[in-house]
Amino acid sequence: MGRAICVYCSSSDLVDGAYFEAAEGLGRLIAEGGHTLVYGGGSIGLMGALARAVHQHRGRVIGVIPDSMVERELAYRDANELIVTDNMRQRKAVMDERADAFIALPGGFGTLEELIEALTHRQLKYHDKPAVIVNLNGFYDPLLRFFEHFIEQHFAKPKHRDSYRVVRDPVAAMVYLESG
Ligand code: AMP
Repeated sequence: MGRAICVYCSSSDLVDGAYFEAAEGLGRLIAEGGHTLVYGGGSIGLMGALARAVHQHRGRVIGVIPDSMVERELAYRDANELIVTDNMRQRKAVMDERADAFIALPGGFGTLEELIEALTHRQLKYHDKPAVIVNLNGFYDPLLRFFEHFIEQHFAKPKHRDSYRVVRDPVAAMVYLESG
């Protein structure tokens, strides 16, 4: 049965082509697996590439975007469902509610904020949905080292490593989610 997969990723158009390839690859896998993409509803950067790839492969896209971003013409208007929220907090809540699983592709501050919220909510048992970090080309190595630093210094418990799964690429992310 298809699942709703929430993807967090970069809104930048300037990142290396390898990241665009990964976003397009993930979009194709989501569509071919019969899943639905839930994401931030943007038309730019990896977000736009991901959503367009899902559509190219006849998949379904749900975008969740705050009205301030729609007004700035940043929304992906071809989404099958475009949910417009009053603010960023409401948007994250809707994305969480609609998702069965979370995937973080490489991204910046926005992606990090969304990923960390998914992990902290899982730690606090607000949900038990899987969260996968796609560590493409070691992009997330510094963050993963920082997570280990938390644990070494007792700011986090070793069991918190179970809040997330690290994989090398979108194929491994989907294999993991589809096997669970
Ligand atoms: P960043 O990683 O800073 O590029 O931010 C990307 C993440 O934040 C995405 O997963 C979105 O949910 C959200 N976001 C940031 N900028 C935009 C935008 N222009 N349009 C839609 N969502 C955005």
